[in-house]
Amino acid sequence: MTPLLRFVAVLLLAVSTAALAAEQVRMVETRILPQEQLPAAANASHALRLSLYAFRGTRWLPADIVAAVLDALPLLAQCGVAVAGVELRLLETPLQFHFYSTPVARELMREITVAKPAVFFVDDTYSEPAYDAEAIGLTNARTRPELVNTIWFAYGARDLPFALAHELVHVLSDSGDHSEAPDNLMRPETSPANTRLTDAQCSRLRASAEANGLLARRAAAGTPRK
Ligand SMILES: [Zn+2]
Repeated sequence: MTPLLRFVAVLLLAVSTAALAAEQVRMVETRILPQEQLPAAANASHALRLSLYAFRGTRWLPADIVAAVLDALPLLAQCGVAVAGVELRLLETPLQFHFYSTPVARELMREITVAKPAVFFVDDTYSEPAYDAEAIGLTNARTRPELVNTIWFAYGARDLPFALAHELVHVLSDSGDHSEAPDNLMRPETSPANTRLTDAQCSRLRASAEANGLLARRAAAGTPRK
């Protein structure tokens, strides 16, 4: 084969593989969590709608994901964030999408339409270093714009509810900052003992998330409606 023919053949193979992958990414189920299961936050100034994505055939069980998320969300109430809705979507995809790497995740995001912020529960990660979770805000999405406002959790992540809340704060605040303050949720190591957020952390979270369309401002309680 001439070099040109070989190039064309490789190109055609690449195109057909991508097309095949696209055809095989399907959303097979959507679970909308009932409103009465969502944590109440009577005086919240902002509301969050969270999208969760799991893959059929991985070790993650939808029930475990939902339980962890329902434990995580009350940690955001201290910032005046209520939960307006949580939806879990189950994807059926080729095996390659069950493992996080930046190029594969970018490809998946080109195949499906995702409401943000979105949390993906994958079987494992090929990232180096292999963090349990990767949170991609606006600032660290410059080289991977498809992944903006997504979080990727590998199976087996420790202290899942606290880790989920921690990563959500990173994305909502569009900040990779950590805190050394005792009990702070944003200490580098997540733990059930670290749950607090400071007023400054909450202010930044609300301002940034509202500006980036990740939180909606709620009507003030007691405001007369016209
Ligand atoms: Zn962190």
